[in-house]
This record gives sequence, C-alpha cells and structure tokens, in this order.
Amino acid sequence: MISYSNPLFSIIVFLLIIAITIIITNFLGSLKEKNRIKHLKEFIDKFEFLNDKEIKTVLKDEVSINALFLLAMAFEKEGNYEKSLNIYLAILENVNKNEKFDVLQKVAKVYFQAGFLHKSREALLEILRSKPRNKDALKLLLIVDDKLKNYDEMENIIEIFEELEVDVEKEKCYILFKKALFEMDKIKLKKIYKKYPCLKRSYISFLIYNNPKEIFDEIDEDDVYEMIDIFYNYDSLPAKNSALIQIKAAKKEIKTTIKSPVFELEVLKHLPNGLADLEFEYICQNCKHIYPIYDERCPNCKELFSFKVEAIISKNNLKYRESYN
Ligand SMILES: [Zn+2]
Repeated sequence: MISYSNPLFSIIVFLLIIAITIIITNFLGSLKEKNRIKHLKEFIDKFEFLNDKEIKTVLKDEVSINALFLLAMAFEKEGNYEKSLNIYLAILENVNKNEKFDVLQKVAKVYFQAGFLHKSREALLEILRSKPRNKDALKLLLIVDDKLKNYDEMENIIEIFEELEVDVEKEKCYILFKKALFEMDKIKLKKIYKKYPCLKRSYISFLIYNNPKEIFDEIDEDDVYEMIDIFYNYDSLPAKNSALIQIKAAKKEIKTTIKSPVFELEVLKHLPNGLADLEFEYICQNCKHIYPIYDERCPNCKELFSFKVEAIISKNNLKYRESYN
C-alpha cells in the first residue's frame, strides 16, 4: 500500500490535480466559446440583413473573427447562404493574406451552392491568381466550369491536375465525351467510349436515342440489368437478349416461363396487369446519398459515374385512376 508520506503518493496527487485543472479549463473554455457563438447568433439574428457597420462592431479581435467564421459555417450548413456569405465577406476584409484564401474558398463555395456560378468563379480565380496550384480551388473551379459548360477551361484544369500527379482520368474522359456530344461527332464518341469503359452508360444513353440498333453490339445481359432504368423506360427495343425478355415480361408485353434473376421483375410478372410499376433511385457509391434522378456527377460529393441504380416496386397510381374512372 502507498502511504500518505510516500513521495510517490504526492506525485500522483500532483498529477491528478494538473489533470483535473486541464479538464476544468477546457470545459470552461468550450462553455465560453459556446456562449460567445450563442450571443453572436442572437446578435446577428436581430438583423435581417447585416450591414458592414453591424459586423464591424463584432470584428474587433482574432477570437471574435474565429467565432464569426464558425457562425458563418453554421449558417452555410443550414442553407442560409445569404447570412453566411454576408459574414464571410466581412471577415475577408479583416484577416491577413494567408487566411484570406481560406475565406475566399468558403465564399466561392457558398456562391456555388446558392447558384451564383460566375461569382463563385471570380472568387476562385482570385485565389488561383496568387496560388495557381491550390487543389481545393481548382477542384471547385472544375465543377463550376462543368455547370457553365466551359469544357475548354475544364481541360486546362485537368492538365494542371495531371502535372500535380492527381488521378483525373474520369474527369478527362467525361470532358472529352461532353465535347464530342456537343459537336454530335458520332465517330469521336464511339472512339472515346472504347478507350474509357466507365463511359458505358453515357454512350448507351446516347445510342438509345440516336442509333438504337447499334446498342446490341455494345451490351450483354448484365449491362441491361445494370442500366435497368434505361431499358425499362425505353421500350422500343426488340427483346434480343434474355434480360430484355425479362423486362418485357414484367411489363406484360410478352410471356416467358424462365425466371428473372432480378427479384422486382419477377414480382411484377406475377402481379395483375397495371397493379404495380417500377420506380428507380440512384445511390452514390462514394457518399451513399440517394437521388431520384440519374446524374453523371453526384450532386453531393461531385464524384463521377458513382451512381448505382436500384429498382423499387411501386403502386401504379396512374393506371389505377384510369380504370377507376
Ligand atoms: Zn456522392
């Protein structure tokens, strides 16, 4: 047993006191910070639109600037872009040159989220003027330019990323395909698709409306199931493979005794005509967000070709209503 007079006991007590002091200090610090943010939020909530004068009364020291920065981030997170932007822009005038780039990146992001693409672009170009290889700014600029259909500019950004040895193959093939699609250059489109198999869905979507006959040279049964939404909704194709036979059987257009490997199609085959239909949703394999419409680029994480289609059996409301009337 350790006696009270033992020096080891004194050391343990001493260390314990230090540990308790650190915990209490940290706790009080975070409490103070929370109170400060709460107070600032209350202060800012009083104003529908903040003007420079009001913010400047708060922007006195670095601690207040940090608190305001957190507050702007909170507004940004809850989708209140106007207030968030207002604060970021005010902070921008009160921080040093290095911190300015972080705030400008935030400004660009909020402008982008609010749909002001040209403003977002301006903020990003301002960062890149001083830091031409800033990856975060380049990444967002690529997305902004994609929305603005600035494909030539996108190619320039890709070149910089390649110099920085960042893997941008998906972005590269995406831009090449978009450009060829814009020019409606069928030969080029096929050539690009053959080189980059990740473009399969994009190429099939193009073919289905432009040259459906050629589709059968490019797909097998697994492809049909992987793009079941396309083939289920486009029903002018002949049932040339077993997957298409299963889709047509599920829609009661033809009959088959062979079972479908897709559970949802098999269920539809056994339900009375017009009772149910298929709906589709798309799960991003990168961020797991779910969307009702297909997109080549995930709106959340911006990853390309990351959507996986899921079929869902739904009640066929339209046909129900028709038969009811
Ligand atoms: Zn995603």
